[in-house]
Parts: sequence; C-alpha cells; structure tokens
Amino acid sequence: MHDTDHSTGTIDRTTPARARTDDSDSVRGRIDDADGSGNGSSSSSSSSSSSSVGHGGDTVTPAGHTGDAAWDAGRAAVPTVDEVAAAAGAASSELASTAPSTRAAWLEAVADALDTRVDELVALADEESHLGTARLTGEVARTTGQLRLFAAVLRDGAFLEVVIDHADASATPPKPELRRMLRPTGPVAVFSASNFPFAFSVAGGDTASALAAGCPVIVKAHSAHPRLSRLTAAIVVEALRTAGAPEGTFALVEGREQGTALVQHPAITAVGFTGSLAGGRTLFDLASQRPAPIPFYGELGSTNPVVITEAALQGEAAGELARGLAASFTLGVGQFCTNPGLVLVPSGSGFAELVAQAAADTVAGRMLTPGIAEAYAAGTARAAGHPGVRTLLGGGTAAADSGVPTVLATTAVTVLDAPDVLLEEIFGPATLVIEVADDAELHAVLAEVGGALTATVHAAPDEDIAGLVSRLELIAGRVLFGGWPTGVAVGWAQHHGGPWPATTSLHTSVGASAVRRFQRPIVYQDAPERVLPEALHEANPLRLPRRVDGFLELPAAARA
Ligand code: NAP
Repeated sequence: MHDTDHSTGTIDRTTPARARTDDSDSVRGRIDDADGSGNGSSSSSSSSSSSSVGHGGDTVTPAGHTGDAAWDAGRAAVPTVDEVAAAAGAASSELASTAPSTRAAWLEAVADALDTRVDELVALADEESHLGTARLTGEVARTTGQLRLFAAVLRDGAFLEVVIDHADASATPPKPELRRMLRPTGPVAVFSASNFPFAFSVAGGDTASALAAGCPVIVKAHSAHPRLSRLTAAIVVEALRTAGAPEGTFALVEGREQGTALVQHPAITAVGFTGSLAGGRTLFDLASQRPAPIPFYGELGSTNPVVITEAALQGEAAGELARGLAASFTLGVGQFCTNPGLVLVPSGSGFAELVAQAAADTVAGRMLTPGIAEAYAAGTARAAGHPGVRTLLGGGTAAADSGVPTVLATTAVTVLDAPDVLLEEIFGPATLVIEVADDAELHAVLAEVGGALTATVHAAPDEDIAGLVSRLELIAGRVLFGGWPTGVAVGWAQHHGGPWPATTSLHTSVGASAVRRFQRPIVYQDAPERVLPEALHEANPLRLPRRVDGFLELPAAARA
C-alpha cells in the first residue's frame, strides 16, 4: 500500500515470512523506568537541568500520576547520561544474544501497548504539536505498524545476512572456513523529530530498527513535545519490561546538554537523528570528532524537486497537477521532510499561477513551534525578496506561529544566479516554481540542487525521459513517477534517504533495511561452533535464509 499521507499510517502488508517460537535465549530483568506523569515538568530545550528519565525503579508511573512516594523518590534521583549509558552498555550483550523471535515479541508488545493508549497519546500530542487528532491518530497507526514491520523483519531473518564459506584445503591458496553475519553495534542514541511526534520520535523508526537490530536505545526527547515523550517512554518501558527485556534496554533523556553528552558518550555506538541541517551538522561533527568516531545517521533536510514536462501539462491535466501539488505542499502545514519545495516547469506554462489559485483557500495552520514558524517566515521572506522572484500567494506575515501557504515563481536564470538563496529548503507550506526555457536549463538547475530524499517526474506516458531519470537518480533516494512525495510507505522496499544534505549516510531511516544502520558485519574464521552465534551454526537451528558456498539457501518455511 502506498500512503497518500505520510501520517496515515498503515503499512505495506508485512506478513512474516514465517514465525518461530524459539525464545530460549529470552532474558528477564528490570529495565529503566520512565516518567509518564504527563505533567510537563522540567523540560527545556537548552537547560542542562532538563530531566532525564529512566530512574531504574521497578514500577512505571502511569500518565497523570502524582503523589506516589516511591515514584517521587525515584524522580528525585534523576539519572545522569553516564548512568543511562552505563545501563545500556550493560544490557548490550544480553540483547545481542536474544533470539530474533524474542525481540520480535518485544516490538509487538510495544506496538500493542501504544495502540491500547492511542486516545490518550493523541490528545497529548495534539496539545503539544497542533497537528490535529485525525493526522495524529493515523501517525500512531503508522508507528505501531512500523514496530510490527520490524517484528516481521526479525522473524524473516534475512536481515542477519548470514554467509558461510566452508574451508577448502584444495584451493590455491587453501581457504579457511569463514562465517559472516551482521551483529548489533551496541547502545544507540536517537534524536526525536519535531514534525512526527510518533513515527520519528520516542517509539519511531530509529528506535524500532535499533531495538530490532539488538541494540539498547536512549532517546533524546524533542523539546517540542516533552510530555508526549515522557508518556510514550513510560509505555515503551512498561511494555518491554512485561515482555521480558533486560534493564537498560530503553531510556529517555531530555535537554540539549544531555543530547550532546549522549553523542559523545563512549558507550554510544551510533546515532539516529531527524531534524535541521544546522542541528544535525553540529551533532554529526561531534560524533566524528570523538576519540572513537561513531556513525551518525542524520536525516536533515530536502527540497524534493518535481519536474513537470510540457506534455504532462496538456489540457485538463495542468489544473489537476496544480491541485495535487497544492494539497501536497500544504499538507501538515508543510512540515514534511518530503515537501515538494522546488517545481520545474516549462517557461510560459502558467503553471505557477494555477498552483497559487489551487492553494488560495488553504487556511494557514499553526506550526509546530514558534521557532519553526519564525524560521519559515524568514525563509519565505528571504526567497520572496530576491530580485526576479514573484510572490503569487502568501509571503506576508500572519498571526503568530502560523504558516501561510506561499507560492513563489522565478526563472532558471535567476536560480542559477543565486542557488544558495533559492535552492535552500524552506520548512513549511511553501513551494518555488522555476520556469525553464529548455532541457539545458532544466539540467543546469538540477545539477545545482543538492541531495534530496525524493525527486518526482510528471511526464506523458510515451515521453522519452531516460536522460531526466538518470539525472534524478543522482539527486534523490526515491524517484517518483507521478504522484507527490509527501507520503512515505513503510514497507520492505522503502528507501528514505539521499545524498548530502538529505542525509549523512547511504542508508534509509524508513523501511525494513533501516535496521542495517545499527548492525556491524563480523566474520568468524575457523571458529569452533560452540563460540559462534546460533545464527551461524551449521545445522541452521534458527532456519535462516543464508548463502552457503555461494548458493542461496531458503529454509522451507522461508520459501512458503
Ligand atoms: P532541530 O533544531 O535540528 O532539533 C532536532 C534535535 O536536535 C532536537 O532534539 C534539538 O534539541 C537537537 N539540537 C538542535 N540543535 C542542536 C545543537 N546545536 N546541539 C545539540 N542539540 C541540538 O530540528 P527541529 O527543532 O525539529 O526543527 C528546526 C528546523 O529543522 C525546522 O525549521 C526545519 O528547517 C528543520 N527540520 C527538518 C526536518 C526534516 O525532516 N528534514 C524535520 C524537522 C525539522 P532541542 O529539542 O533542545 O531543540
């Protein structure tokens, strides 16, 4: 299934290839607790005194809870980043030795627990994000579907990439026995996003994929939704504990200083991040400058170019495309990393005017935070004020915190003269329509567009677009033929990534292969079987798909 809305979340059908019941490696223990009080206390985006949660008590305080002496005592003893990182480090080897089916059950337990509390979660999320209950309810479904997808990935087993080469003494030179697989990296730091309080936040894709890989997770809550973060964390903690996950599997911290300390902490082995180019770059640099640098998987920003050919704009199609674009760039007050921010159309097509008409009745919505609204107003003003740019809709300042839909239009020549100004992402409901005189101009503009999460082409069915597609492949991680990019289906084949500055890596943050970010290849040479992970045992007790001496083996259940 392809969502038409990033938030309306059911996932592609993820029927597990097979289900195993082996949970012999399952471990039991206490996991870090979380503040689910939902009372909004002690959060600040910049204060070093921001609370962290995960006090290590045996009980989880339910949302709205106050006045419990044991809880208050635990709350007073807010753990430091050192403490939560140490607990995560201590849990690492236990997590790494759990059977995939055991972790699948944990993820399903978290998904079930979130679904059970959906109304409470959505109400709190709406208070803090203003995204509306319909969108947020869909986003919870997307989030729990995502957790279940990773459970299916675990039961499938291909994510371990098991490869075995038997020894060959007759080869020249003789070959040793090699057994290779992917192992969890260890504790992972996750930075929640502001614009997806569920799907890219506390129990979102980074957390789900890291837990699936077998890594403990410490989430840095986003300051835009602190109470929701605490409630979600409390639900996750309780579900994991009940399902038998060890202490230290999951924790939440708050505050910039804690986030920064987390990235620099020696126990942390990788970071997942969704947010701004500036914030992401700062943390990426910190991760790289550590004495032992670690991978930083940042999803930072994207202009998501759309190319519409002359043939695609014939007749009624132009108006339809304009309405589709208007709906896409204003969706969720434009606060999508996949927002179509640049639209390249033939000169003289009049398409920009059609888009402005189509978006004219869209009401300005409240943005996620005052800071994001300010950045949006500044970004649109900067682009609109550039000589040669026409403002066809919006562009003025509206009521505080609201994002006024804005349609700007200009020419390729103007853009090529000031790419730094006009090809920068504007986070919010804005799009820039760029008129190109010919293919040379089209390719020249596309050559200046930085890496993007998506690129979209609208062309006539029989048009030769091979050259255009080759160009778009260089830019984006997902190339769409028709449709609009503001919808990221969560499934096995998805790739949500792209060249810098869209991301800092070659990986995806959405879809089954997101788990690959938190796995490290290791090959065992001539190892006695008793020291090998079960996944590499000769008899294949976990019934994993694997490549043996160059040939792919699919156990019967996997082929079904
Ligand atoms: P952000 O400012 O990058 O914040 C993301 C996370 O990083 C937050 O936890 C934030 O802490 C932390 N952070 C930011 N700067 C930091 C620094 N210098 N040192 C340490 N930690 C830092 O992103 P945002 O608040 O979500 O939105 C701000 C802008 O980001 C938007 O206007 C938009 O341009 C862009 N954005 C892009 C996407 C995308 O998907 N491409 C998504 C959302 C936002 P605090 O919580 O304390 O602020």
